[in-house]
Amino acid sequence: MALDSLERDMDIDVAIIGGGLAGLALANRLHRAGLALQLFEARPHFGGRIAALQDQRGRVDLGPSWFWPGQPRFAKLVAEFGLQAFPQHATGDIVLEDATGTVHRGAGFASMEGSFRVDGGMIGLIEGLVATLPANSLHLSCAAEVIGNGSVHLSDGRRCSARHVVLAIPPRLASGLKYEPALSNEAQKSLAAIPTWMAGHAKFVATYDRPFWRDKGLSGDAMSRHGPLVEIHDASGADGNPAALFGFVGVPANARKEHASRIEGMALEQLERIFGPKAARPLQVGLQDWAGERWTATPADQAPVQGHPDYRLPPSLVGAANGRLHFAATETAPEMGGLMEGALASAERVSRAIIEDMRSEMAPS
Ligand SMILES: Cc1cc2nc3c(=O)[nH]c(=O)nc-3n(C[C@H](O)[C@H](O)[C@H](O)COP(=O)(O)OP(=O)(O)OC[C@H]3O[C@@H](n4cnc5c(N)ncnc54)[C@H](O)[C@@H]3O)c2cc1C
Repeated sequence: MALDSLERDMDIDVAIIGGGLAGLALANRLHRAGLALQLFEARPHFGGRIAALQDQRGRVDLGPSWFWPGQPRFAKLVAEFGLQAFPQHATGDIVLEDATGTVHRGAGFASMEGSFRVDGGMIGLIEGLVATLPANSLHLSCAAEVIGNGSVHLSDGRRCSARHVVLAIPPRLASGLKYEPALSNEAQKSLAAIPTWMAGHAKFVATYDRPFWRDKGLSGDAMSRHGPLVEIHDASGADGNPAALFGFVGVPANARKEHASRIEGMALEQLERIFGPKAARPLQVGLQDWAGERWTATPADQAPVQGHPDYRLPPSLVGAANGRLHFAATETAPEMGGLMEGALASAERVSRAIIEDMRSEMAPS
């Protein structure tokens, strides 16, 4: 929708800030409940931390790759959009590269065996959700800057009014917005203290014409103490197509910024050491550095989080702005915070609260 029409039609129920999994899943729930909503996404595309490298043969995840048994919301969404889930390829030997760069075959177990992937990439879920929403409720390249009392001031100078405002963005980014009236000091501190899951990480992806490592009895899994990749996995599609390997980059974020192209070259040399000469001839490579993404990471997120934080919505953020301001990113989830299942759980929590409020508002007194 052109933003001018926002000025004509500002009487909406819900303004959602952020078009990642949480924001879109929330929009989907509220739209199904018949509420009028508008969603504003700062990037020129939807998905947030869910992103893919597009190769001529298909897509490879640059953000999340896996989901696990015991994640019912995620499994339901995969089924709803007719996407194919398949087990992470784990057949064959794992490789350990020691600190000297010497490769030891068959050292250990496939670390991600038992996890599941989505054929065509996680971005399929985002596309599925977007398709359920009216096009005139979705706004790309439109960042929220000031959160007023029942209103949002957008980066292009426009303003949108709504009964409920939802921040489906990482809490640390939410702590950098301006609030009128101001949030309590405690609420501000709580937002800033919540680390953004995986925001300090970078992924290197290489695609090939076929998964040649499988021919040699290698699973595609490798652990390295030499680097630059510290943990490598098979990232191919369900039938091995597109064929791909990915690795988490072990170089600190500040050094990654300066040496991105060197890291790509060194990563290919490392894949060649581990998987043989064919690994040095990829069809395409991609280095996705989440720490350098302003709509994901803050300066405090540059160092990867140690361990998995005990995410939840801090008490100081419950019932903000008389119950009209909500926080819905995965880091605020009641369970599985940090993960995609958590993003869906947070959307569920906020949609319940909003729908309950709208129903009580409409009920005869
Ligand atoms: C490398 C990596 C690997 C991962 N691996 C896994 C995995 O295997 N399994 C798993 O379950 N999870 C994994 N995760 C975590 C998973 O990606 C997240 O749980 C999930 O994508 C979070 O969704 P979200 O909507 O809560 O937040 P986000 O995806 O961060 O979405 C927030 C959105 O808000 C937008 N935004 C920010 N500020 C503003 C603003 N001011 N105005 C408007 N829009 C704004 C952003 O552009 C973004 O689109 C991984 C993440 C990364 C980075």
